[in-house]
Amino acid sequence: MSARERSVRTEGIILRRRDFGESDRILVLFTRKLGRISGIAKGSRKPSSKIAGHLELFMRSSFLISRGRNLHLITQAEVLDSFEGLRKDLQGIGQGSYIVELVDAVTFEEGSNLNLYELLLTTLEALDSGDDPMIITHFFELHLLGLVGFQPEFFICVECGKKITEQDQYISGELGGVVCPSCRTAVPGADIRPISVRMLKYLRHFQRSSLQELITLSIPLDVRKGIEEVIRYYLTHTLERHLNSPEFLNSIKE
Ligand SMILES: [Zn+2]
Repeated sequence: MSARERSVRTEGIILRRRDFGESDRILVLFTRKLGRISGIAKGSRKPSSKIAGHLELFMRSSFLISRGRNLHLITQAEVLDSFEGLRKDLQGIGQGSYIVELVDAVTFEEGSNLNLYELLLTTLEALDSGDDPMIITHFFELHLLGLVGFQPEFFICVECGKKITEQDQYISGELGGVVCPSCRTAVPGADIRPISVRMLKYLRHFQRSSLQELITLSIPLDVRKGIEEVIRYYLTHTLERHLNSPEFLNSIKE
């Protein structure tokens, strides 16, 4: 929000919320126009509040946001999509909560990123429709990494730059992607682990394809487990290592 604007109407998705004072709530939103915004919804825990029902976690609502003295004020909220299908059981709530937690972790105050907003929305809509949550979640994770500047390299060796050949390889979260067998020992002390060429092909497919292309895939159980492990490893490593670094903050500002 620029200094001249007193209030902005925008749609957004609720990333986080907590009670504040007697009857207020502090919300963290990821909005289409302003990116991530923290604000206070005064009186929103009172039974008489008109906006209370529009402020649930991972709900998509239309907000009126004004500039307060310290915090932004969320004065109006009207639900656009509550993702009821996702909200109907604990598993779905867990999936939705994980998606918004990840967005919360990689964004910063008032940094707008329209592509990330679209990715978040597409992901929640797909989960809500009941399609394969494993495919949707891993699609989201890999594309999120790309959008915040940490796309894993799956096509060339991150050490020697040579094209990856049809054989089993290695992968390193620390080095940013695939390491070829000849370079495996090139960086002593780096966390490098083996990855099969078959698994790598699936990961490339996830990274390059749209969700529509992926959603119809039938993925064997062992591959599901493998993808889960690699992405979990890569994501944890990247988040821990880069989240508070100046490089990371610059990369997501660009
Ligand atoms: Zn190499």
